[in-house]
Amino acid sequence: MTDSLRTEHPSSWRRVRAWGLWSLPSAARRYVIIFELLAVAAVALACLTDVPPTASDWRRLAVLVGAGAVHLWLTRRTEETRRDSGTGPHMDTSVVWILPAMVLLPAWMAVLSMLLLRVQLYPVARRPLYRYTFGTAGILLAALGSLAVVRLAGVHVTSTFGAQDALVLALAGLTYFVINAVAIGGVIALSTPQPTWTVVVGTRRDNLMAALTVCLGALAALAIAHAWLAPLFVVPLLVALDWGALQIENLRGDARTDHKTQLLNSRGWHEQAGRELSRSARTQSTLAVAVLDLDHFKQVNDTWGHPAGDAVLRSVGAVLRETTRQGDVVGRFGGEEFVLLLPDTDIDGAALVAERVRRGVAGMQVAATDKRGQPVVISDRTTSIGVAAGSGVDLETLLRRADAAVYEAKNGGRNQVRAAEPPADVAV
Ligand code: GH3
Ligand code: MG
Ligand code: MG
Repeated sequence: MTDSLRTEHPSSWRRVRAWGLWSLPSAARRYVIIFELLAVAAVALACLTDVPPTASDWRRLAVLVGAGAVHLWLTRRTEETRRDSGTGPHMDTSVVWILPAMVLLPAWMAVLSMLLLRVQLYPVARRPLYRYTFGTAGILLAALGSLAVVRLAGVHVTSTFGAQDALVLALAGLTYFVINAVAIGGVIALSTPQPTWTVVVGTRRDNLMAALTVCLGALAALAIAHAWLAPLFVVPLLVALDWGALQIENLRGDARTDHKTQLLNSRGWHEQAGRELSRSARTQSTLAVAVLDLDHFKQVNDTWGHPAGDAVLRSVGAVLRETTRQGDVVGRFGGEEFVLLLPDTDIDGAALVAERVRRGVAGMQVAATDKRGQPVVISDRTTSIGVAAGSGVDLETLLRRADAAVYEAKNGGRNQVRAAEPPADVAV
């Protein structure tokens, strides 16, 4: 009997056991579960104390869900960009519709509209389900907090609206912002071994974006309260703002790219490497840095001219892209120096990657033109590579050690990989 039960349900039980939720530290897990239970209780309480919906409530529900769906669909690319470049807490744009729903609709309708929007964002967010569920619980509690503020103050945004009511709406927005920040910041603090202030609270830019989203939500609430067709104006405005944000995001990307090789430039590399470093500090994993300097590169310029030298640099860029993994951070620091950051990699792993790169460069056949414009194939280029690895070490130290190893490789006869000596305080 027990056996048959076991064979009947193994897959679903295993699926529950495989939930990412169980991989969280126990304090964070408890926090997540309590938060989710609180959200369910708050939904029940809000719905029990509800008033029956009117015809205009149904109309507003349809308008909010419809406009929200169009808005989220038109702006999904920026949402993806922000998700990929963000570090700390992140507030998604659905808040622009959730806040009006909480202020204008009976609670169960507001909760329903919020869930309908969150379901659409799930494929865009690409977060593990347990994190997305927790995020939804955080938003629900934040939204119901703002609903409580509006109800306790007895404000009816749909009828009269005075200066005092505007203050209540601002307070509702603030409540949303704070509860959301506590939800996300709390779980980050509890699941990070050495949480820093920026990791828990987010950068100034993250918080400004979140505050702007809440303000837009409050504005949308006011507009829809007085004209149910207001989303006709609100959606284009939001899409235009989003388009502007995307342009800025692209310009920021340009400022971080080395245009000769399309790799990251020094600034872009440092930023992304810094993010990887704090991620590795959170998981206490080892990461490695490799510094490459092409051998006798000046000869290439002297023999065939600068355009041929540039072709070699582009080719090295291609080799680096081919020989590294997706999460590795690859950059050109200027001149003929390249840098790799290899997450979750120890010194032996880094030496293997560096050796692959060295062989890749040695095997390059670069089609270029010489000083007189005649076609030429440049081959037999070599490179000296230094690698360093560590856990809980800062970036500059790793770079300095890898750079010293490059000089050893040069002194040792070039065309080779050298590993940095471990620091004196680390037992070997
Ligand atoms: P070593 O083996 O000691 O590294 O010798 P090297 O010739 O590679 O080193 P050196 O630092 O003396 O020369 C680097 C050369 O790289 C000098 C410079 O003209 C060239 N260079 C720097 N940036 C670029 C670039 O963007 N394009 C081209 N074509 N050459 C560049
Ligand atoms: Mg050099
Ligand atoms: Mg060189």
